[in-house]
Amino acid sequence: MPIYEYCCPKCGVKFELLRPMSRANEDAPCPTCKNGAKRAVSTFAAFIKSDSGSSSAVAGSGGCSTCSATSCAGCH
Ligand SMILES: [Zn+2]
Repeated sequence: MPIYEYCCPKCGVKFELLRPMSRANEDAPCPTCKNGAKRAVSTFAAFIKSDSGSSSAVAGSGGCSTCSATSCAGCH
């Protein structure tokens, strides 16, 4: 599930919330004042946590083509 960032207009607190994409634009209850906090779109966090709990690093497309190392300083 994606993590969305919300900002409370009343007390200014920022918090993140895991919620389904279909509910991303709904107001989220502020943990401090229970006011409806709006989604902070400008700082949208594109983290996707896998259900297994481990955040697997995605193999970059800029990896080395001549060896299997992801960070390759020796073969270029
Ligand atoms: Zn608040």
